[in-house]
Amino acid sequence: MAELSQSVLRAPRSGIRKIMELAQTMDGVIHLEVGEPLFATPEHIVEAGCAALRAGYTKYTPNAGMRELREAIAESRTKELGVRVEPENVLVGIGGVEVINCAFRAFCEPGDEVLIPDPAWPNYRMMATIANVKPVPYSLRAENRFYPVTEELEKLVTERTKLLVVNSPSNPLGVVFPEKVMRELLEFAGRHDLYLLSDEAYERIVYDTDMVTPYAMDTEKKVIAAHTLSKTYAMTGWRIGYLLADSGIIQTMMKLQEAYISSVPGANQMAGVAAIRGPQKCVEEMRRTYQDNRDLAAALFAEAGISYFLPGGAFYMWVGIEGKDSTEFAEKLLLKEKVAVAPGQTFGENGEGWLRISLASKGEDLQEGIKRLVHFYNLQ
Ligand code: PLP
Repeated sequence: MAELSQSVLRAPRSGIRKIMELAQTMDGVIHLEVGEPLFATPEHIVEAGCAALRAGYTKYTPNAGMRELREAIAESRTKELGVRVEPENVLVGIGGVEVINCAFRAFCEPGDEVLIPDPAWPNYRMMATIANVKPVPYSLRAENRFYPVTEELEKLVTERTKLLVVNSPSNPLGVVFPEKVMRELLEFAGRHDLYLLSDEAYERIVYDTDMVTPYAMDTEKKVIAAHTLSKTYAMTGWRIGYLLADSGIIQTMMKLQEAYISSVPGANQMAGVAAIRGPQKCVEEMRRTYQDNRDLAAALFAEAGISYFLPGGAFYMWVGIEGKDSTEFAEKLLLKEKVAVAPGQTFGENGEGWLRISLASKGEDLQEGIKRLVHFYNLQ
């Protein structure tokens, strides 16, 4: 009898999903485990999507994305980055998830290796495992301000290493790498002839620090930048993401798009055009709310004497529960106090002893959730 694929069976399940499933069986849970914007998609973007549907954008679209969207992306990126980005440098896909998958597929043969952060968004590990690629974690630890250590990276490279995955602002840490660190990573990638995949999903959600994007510093055309409209414009359900890369790479990746998805829904892409070309005030309003939540959470944890990392970006706070099993802690916290959080262990070995709480929550939920968390922590 035919067997299910071992690579799929081996792929880990997200520990966050497990907490979410348990939470769904309970009433009155405060949800601090989710990684979704707090807001509905801004009205002008929804309108553009609806108008596009009525105007007949209901058919297949080109593999690499519609010209209108690729042009809007290229123009806005050229302005922001100060380097020329052409529509031919853009590949539109079904969210960041799908375009990052494309990058794994485009650069790796089965048996190759990718360097991924630890802790990191669990999907990198899943994607690599399913593609029969070995995920090799590199550590981000508190004692180094959660920056990668080049000497450690050097020891992890083999002749099978193809990609260095960098995620700044980071999910789950919220760390934003400064220019010096980014340059070191670029140099490291250059020394070993690796492509650098820069996942910039949270690029517009940064607090009192500057977003540094390696695409703008790349002279070798070895940076692939992964972007999404999901977090910036509260558009998770529209599934619009894109890659920026050398046009030759994009040309090859179009084959992957034909095989995987054929194309991205046209009306959603037109909503994407409205997001990028339209007013950006909504982005700032959302960012401001996350920042207020960050400051509120930081004050509450500081008052309780619980350690945390003050995020420079993204909408998560990384909270220390030193010496405790994070999965057990998260499960008990949910069952006893009805607060759902993500156990750090689900993000990698270095996540053990930590929890991730979402700042994309209502202020009163955050306040009450942290109050209960502190109460539970003190009973342990
Ligand atoms: N990258 C990171 C670090 C994320 O946290 C996410 C979503 O949670 C994504 C990429 C992809 O998001 P989407 O597929 O909605 O664009």
